[in-house]
Amino acid sequence: MKHRLVPILMAAALAGPAGLVAAAPHGHAHEHGVVRVQVGVDGPRLELALQAPLDSLLGFERAPRTDAERRAAEQALATLRQPQSWLQPDAAAGCTLETSNVDPGVLAPGAPAPRDGHAEVEASYAWRCAQPQALRGLEIGLFDAFRRLQRIEVEVADANGQGRSTLKRPARVVKLQR
Ligand SMILES: [Zn+2]
Repeated sequence: MKHRLVPILMAAALAGPAGLVAAAPHGHAHEHGVVRVQVGVDGPRLELALQAPLDSLLGFERAPRTDAERRAAEQALATLRQPQSWLQPDAAAGCTLETSNVDPGVLAPGAPAPRDGHAEVEASYAWRCAQPQALRGLEIGLFDAFRRLQRIEVEVADANGQGRSTLKRPARVVKLQR
């Protein structure tokens, strides 16, 4: 993203009264129950980056310790690695997923424990769209997959500038043209 949104507004919006907020290693706010998403549209290219506190997905922020936790962690990573099942640009735009990367953080085998007790997974995806002018919305179906998740904070950057919006359970569609 070329331009950053006003950091003070962002900080105020993310530090809600009920939230557990902590500074993540790379400086952005980390709030349980929330996933942060950045969407970029540049001509035919659509990109999405996602940062999820592990608590929002799993309810713990460390390596799994029990079989149930291991299964939950594997399922969460499998979901993130299969964006076709929950992340859908407008069908009319004819977007084809080109890349999909998931950084499992502390869920990776042998990863060190989180230093401050908080941990995230990150993922990024990119599509090429045959009819980008038809790209009006992006469906993010994460609430179905992750029951603990309450809010998705979305920043969009496209040719019209930047905007931000919040998807609250059960909303799932981000508008892309303002
Ligand atoms: Zn945390």
